[in-house]
Amino acid sequence: MRKIPIEKKYQTALNDLIDYLKNSRFLNDKKIEDAFRNIPRHEFVPVSELDYAYNNEPLQIMKNQTISQPGVVSRMTEWLDVKKGQKILEIGTGSGWQSAILSYLVGGGTVYSVERHTQLVKFAEENLKKFDIDNVHVILGDGSVGYEKGSPYDRIIITAACTAIPLPIIDQLKEGGLIIAPVGNSTQSLVLLQKTFKGIIEIKNESHYVFVPLRGKFGKNR
Ligand code: SAM
Repeated sequence: MRKIPIEKKYQTALNDLIDYLKNSRFLNDKKIEDAFRNIPRHEFVPVSELDYAYNNEPLQIMKNQTISQPGVVSRMTEWLDVKKGQKILEIGTGSGWQSAILSYLVGGGTVYSVERHTQLVKFAEENLKKFDIDNVHVILGDGSVGYEKGSPYDRIIITAACTAIPLPIIDQLKEGGLIIAPVGNSTQSLVLLQKTFKGIIEIKNESHYVFVPLRGKFGKNR
């Protein structure tokens, strides 16, 4: 992965964001802090949003979709407990920022990320290319069915709201593996599940999140 020099104005804003996330207990893991520092968020937002890249808020990208709020990315990544060498599936590539953070954390591992909008696949690929990231495979398709070709996965992250986690996606998780998703209708709870030899168990659950909906065969079709 290539390190991109960061301009002073962005560095200051990034430092402030990291302080805020640490103080509010949304960033507790040094590895994730390092990922935030090495993969600056402003490289993943459209030019119109550059001034807001280090606000703790979701921002519009294209196709009426969003790059998630930094605090939410940090929370989900921390709960997912990613280890070096793992194979990860992400549903909802969007800007590619979350994929890049996962790429950083898995090191020599692999990230598969599925996105349904061609324009966003291209946007994410361009953003990832700036960092010479070569362990993220962005796939155009309906991620509500997962991505069977790359399965089974150590970790799965769904970055769009689902009313229930689609069963085909759970089938693609390894035994012992973790899956995180925002689950609910108008608002969602972040739910972290583990697949065990006895079945699926809930590890963590936190309410009051709002994500754009997961579409597709096992998502919302309206
Ligand atoms: N992880 C992204 C990032 O770092 O920028 C943010 C993801 S955004 C909150 C949710 C994404 O899920 C959108 O880009 C949307 O197009 C995508 N999405 C929704 N339903 C999908 C589906 N069935 N298959 C693939 N992508 C889907």
